[in-house]
Amino acid sequence: MPKIRYEELTWPEVKEAVAQQRVCVLPVGTTEQHGPHLPLVTDVLTAAEMSRLAVEQVPDEAVLLPPVYYSFNEHHMDFPGTIAIAGETIIRYVTDIGISLARHGFEKILIVNGHGSNVPFLDIAARNITNESTAIAAMASWWSLIPKELITAQRESEYPGGMAHGCELETSVLLHLRPDLVQMDKASKDISFQHTEFFYWDLQNPSPIFFQEWFSRYSKTGTVGDPTKAKAAKGELFVNAVVERMVKLIREFRAREIAPRVDHH
Ligand SMILES: [Zn+2]
Repeated sequence: MPKIRYEELTWPEVKEAVAQQRVCVLPVGTTEQHGPHLPLVTDVLTAAEMSRLAVEQVPDEAVLLPPVYYSFNEHHMDFPGTIAIAGETIIRYVTDIGISLARHGFEKILIVNGHGSNVPFLDIAARNITNESTAIAAMASWWSLIPKELITAQRESEYPGGMAHGCELETSVLLHLRPDLVQMDKASKDISFQHTEFFYWDLQNPSPIFFQEWFSRYSKTGTVGDPTKAKAAKGELFVNAVVERMVKLIREFRAREIAPRVDHH
């Protein structure tokens, strides 16, 4: 099997990976509190592990970049442990990673997101990469790759709110990927977020309203959701579903033609 980890390649091997037009898969997480039962690394771990499992299935078609560990999460700073990066910094940082890859000749950059609050910043970073280089970049949050029917079939927590942060979904995934890092005896349900017609928070079906306030205003534990409903078996189903779809996404993205630009002035 060819090496899949970007940082383990030599420069001639990078040149070969470019010749194969492998898709660059860049996991981006964050380092932040996830309640009393999950580690700070949760969002890095989920994005990086699912990316690794996917790239391992298509080692000739993709290469796995080292994950980005720090990101935007100022709203979590009332809880110990969170490392908060300014939004402008994360946009520029991820843009620079993508542009560097493009300068070496890679044409497809896939950002795999593990942190809800990354979405607007990584969307802009992906657009920047596309606008400022010859490559094209796309971004996908792992939970959005899970088929809705699978979540509905497995879900035991209430909607909305049971699957938001350190929740039934994330805790199940961690129980499958790294059970040694989950302290289920400390997990508790915390859905004190004021759920109304427009303001609700659930990974299964995001609200139409973009809104984020200080986390400590609506969560006592650092959790939003019901991690007591989490199970490793569910986590395995979710991870397998994400990996299966990510493999398809990588293949589709690799085959995607980049049409020439036309200047109509
Ligand atoms: Zn998370």
